[in-house]
Amino acid sequence: MEPTGSIPRRAPATGELVAEFGAGTAHDVNAAVGAARTAFDEGPWPRMSGLSRAEVLLRLADLIAANASLLARLDAEEVGKPLRLAEGDIAGAVGLTRYAAGLATQMHGSTYTNHDADFTGLVLRQPAGVAGLITPWNFPALILCQKLPFALAAGCTVVVKPSEFTSSSTLEIARLAAEAGLPDGVLNVVTGDGQPGQALAEHTAVDVLSFTGSTVTGRKVLDASKTNLKRVSLELGGKAASIVFDDADLDDALDGVVYGVFFNQGECCVSASRLLVQESIADEFLEKVAEAAERLRVGQPFDPATDVGAMIHPGHLEKVLQYVSVGAQQGATVLTGGHRLTGPAHDDGLFVAPTVLDGVRPDARVFREEIFGPVLSVTRFGDADEAVRLANGVEYGLANTIWSKDIDKVLDVGKALQSGTVYVNTTIDGAPQMPFGGYKASGVGREMGQAGFEEFTELKSINIRTGKRRGTLGLGAGPAATD
Ligand code: NAD
Repeated sequence: MEPTGSIPRRAPATGELVAEFGAGTAHDVNAAVGAARTAFDEGPWPRMSGLSRAEVLLRLADLIAANASLLARLDAEEVGKPLRLAEGDIAGAVGLTRYAAGLATQMHGSTYTNHDADFTGLVLRQPAGVAGLITPWNFPALILCQKLPFALAAGCTVVVKPSEFTSSSTLEIARLAAEAGLPDGVLNVVTGDGQPGQALAEHTAVDVLSFTGSTVTGRKVLDASKTNLKRVSLELGGKAASIVFDDADLDDALDGVVYGVFFNQGECCVSASRLLVQESIADEFLEKVAEAAERLRVGQPFDPATDVGAMIHPGHLEKVLQYVSVGAQQGATVLTGGHRLTGPAHDDGLFVAPTVLDGVRPDARVFREEIFGPVLSVTRFGDADEAVRLANGVEYGLANTIWSKDIDKVLDVGKALQSGTVYVNTTIDGAPQMPFGGYKASGVGREMGQAGFEEFTELKSINIRTGKRRGTLGLGAGPAATD
């Protein structure tokens, strides 16, 4: 069914119209879920061998790799991020899809023969059913591939609702999946804004829902999903800290702090938007951070020299700048940046100068709230206990980074941090094998790794008695009714 309207997409770096997406409705979601339901209940995909599913996924990975430059271009244009970052995202998507293909061949349960002598327990791991996947705009293809190949590897059928700002690469990957041999009805995409997302979360024929987006929307998704108590996993917002101790390799830490916050224009859930720096080194270190921020080249995604791209839409640009004002009102000093960039290279785009706010108090909004832009909030600490208290003193718990060469300190602090991911002497790093997700308001469940795969499966216990059982209902010693 054709959507009733359309959503224009203007490139945030130039203002040019670059795409138009169908404005899907609840009606479209219903049709897509119906197709996925039929494909799950009657189609070959969940019934195929793991090896056959893996073959399709490996073909899909090859096709994504073969179309990498197109996919990277679409994401760079629609997100406003530097092309070379988008190319990295597509390479990541290929790796995730290949890794998930391997999981399809390894799907297994367990067997128990150590209870009664005549008892055998089989624990089956089966596909969960129809999976709804809702994705955000900051890493369109990459986040899709943190979910889609895992759901497919498990034998689920899928309905995807990509972000209304960045749907092109998802539509392209769906086309490639058909080319790879995915049967009809297994993968369905409904474009549109929050309304079709809400309809997907509410739909009673969806068995499992995997959502990535803001904590505000995550709460709505959780509420909507109560219709049939579907399983929900939520990958939500963050307020990560870079914790720099005085015994760190300070050159590495400097690179990491700058990369950690300005990567992807700060529009990254694990963006290390808080710098916690040990007092003894703070002044000197901060001077270097501010200098490095000023050296970053902010500009057009397709200019190979660009480090930092554009904000996703005008409202978001305003929100980011508003946070800088709020930070200053609440006592922070703007060391650098804090304004929109104008001039010939920037006039038509939504560019914010990389910003460093010093002297941020732990009760300030810029310390506690997700800004999702190129803004670093700096707070000083005395010792490791204080660093941990500060890092944990926010409602989020997605990721944190430790910079130190003291292994004892790294392990103690790493264990005490309340976040699903801890980076040590590196940042925004990882591998498809590593589960990813949040503590506290950063989410529920995990994606990637074995744990991410298992989110798309159900366990079934089959309890088998191999001897006759009499009187098990307390009905006396007489013959069982079925004798
Ligand atoms: P968002 O919550 O506005 O939107 C995410 C998706 O949900 C979009 O597809 C949107 O159309 C859809 N949506 C909106 N309203 C909905 C509703 N009521 N029901 C169902 N779906 C609805 O988030 P965004 O602005 O696209 O992305 C930025 C946010 O995502 C940030 O908070 C960021 O931290 C978070 N994020 C988290 C991770 C992670 O892995 N934890 C990764 C990337 C982004």
